Amino acid sequence: MDEVDTDNHQRRQEGDSLMIKREFLPFCRPLLGKEEEDAVLEVLRSGWLTTGPKTIQFEKDFAFFKGVEHAVAVNSCTSALHLALVALGVGQGDEVIVSPITWPSTINTIINMGAVPVFVDVDKETLNMDSSRIDKNVTRLTKAVQVVHMAGNPADMDEINAIALSHGIPVIEDAAHALEAVYKGRQTGSLGAISCFSLYPTKSITACEGGMLVTGSKTIADTVRTLSFNGIDRDAWKRYGSEGYKHWEVVTPGYKYNMPDILAAIGIQQLRKVWPFWSIRKRYSDMYDAALADIPEIRLLTKKSYVLHSYHLYIIVLDTDRLTVDRDAVLNAIQAEGVGVGVHFRALHLQQGYRSLGYEKGDLPSAEYMSDRIISLPLYPSMSVEDVEYVIEVVKKVITRYRKG
Ligand SMILES: *Cc1c(COP(=O)(O)O)cnc(C)c1O
Repeated sequence: MDEVDTDNHQRRQEGDSLMIKREFLPFCRPLLGKEEEDAVLEVLRSGWLTTGPKTIQFEKDFAFFKGVEHAVAVNSCTSALHLALVALGVGQGDEVIVSPITWPSTINTIINMGAVPVFVDVDKETLNMDSSRIDKNVTRLTKAVQVVHMAGNPADMDEINAIALSHGIPVIEDAAHALEAVYKGRQTGSLGAISCFSLYPTKSITACEGGMLVTGSKTIADTVRTLSFNGIDRDAWKRYGSEGYKHWEVVTPGYKYNMPDILAAIGIQQLRKVWPFWSIRKRYSDMYDAALADIPEIRLLTKKSYVLHSYHLYIIVLDTDRLTVDRDAVLNAIQAEGVGVGVHFRALHLQQGYRSLGYEKGDLPSAEYMSDRIISLPLYPSMSVEDVEYVIEVVKKVITRYRKG
């Protein structure tokens, strides 16, 4: 009796294990190692936790990495974007040209300063701002153009900079997706007056939270550094140095946006891994390209020959006319098969919080079209090749299930 039971049990277990579902593959998962753990412990034990030597080191390393003169570490890319607007003198009633396909902080910072975001529609091939539509949106109130390099693919910076220059307005790069990207031999971070990078856990590298503002202008860098620490004229850690007591002085009413050393210590270690991480994402992105390019229901975004892509996001565009269901049903079906997916991004101009801006359905047709059809697939270095193969299998299976005819 016992033996039979055991056998049955054994057989049942084997049967179960064949059908056991893979563990859910999250949409994103940061890759941190012993280097980051040791670096955090070192700071915890050092007695100096907030902005100090690690932050200064991280800024130096980051500036070197991007080949720029100045890097100012802050507590998020959102803070960096805000400081960029302040440094460029954007204020009440001014207009800033932006894309509707971006993360909300790009827009919120503008609105929270009393300025007005003016949305310019996107290019359906890349999800980047359509440079040919910028000029007619410039008015005498336009104070800046804010450009996102969507998914890690640089926007048309020659065209955008030429238009901005002809109107005498600066360009801000929101390079949150584009840490590694290069445009016609020029690095992101050098393609506008000010560039902002993100160190949020979903990005190419992370500091837990954090942002980096880079610029070629010493005046802007000094202004931003002061603004990021309550408008105080020198770094706190120097005040208690060996050179004798130094009074601090508020030179402008600033913000509290400085990066703590614990985060900078993580960032320093992650920055050393940028290219190994990038190579893995490129390999996975190439695998997706090869497997999905010939599926008629799926379109891939285009990459220009003269860019180095960051491979931050892998976005597919569904041809919903060929499917029996809409994008959201496909999202749910993929998730039900154990694969985390995302949407980058649902167009902002129609979302509740921005209703007072007065945009209506149909105003930005390409953004609205894309917003209803895009899906981002997992793309990060802690995935395995088998994970990528599984994602491909699931996408193919779901598309086949909902194929028309
Ligand atoms: C992530 C992201 C940001 C904001 O970054 P935080 O560091 O979280 O503030 C801004 N813009 C874009 C396009 C992003 O993807």
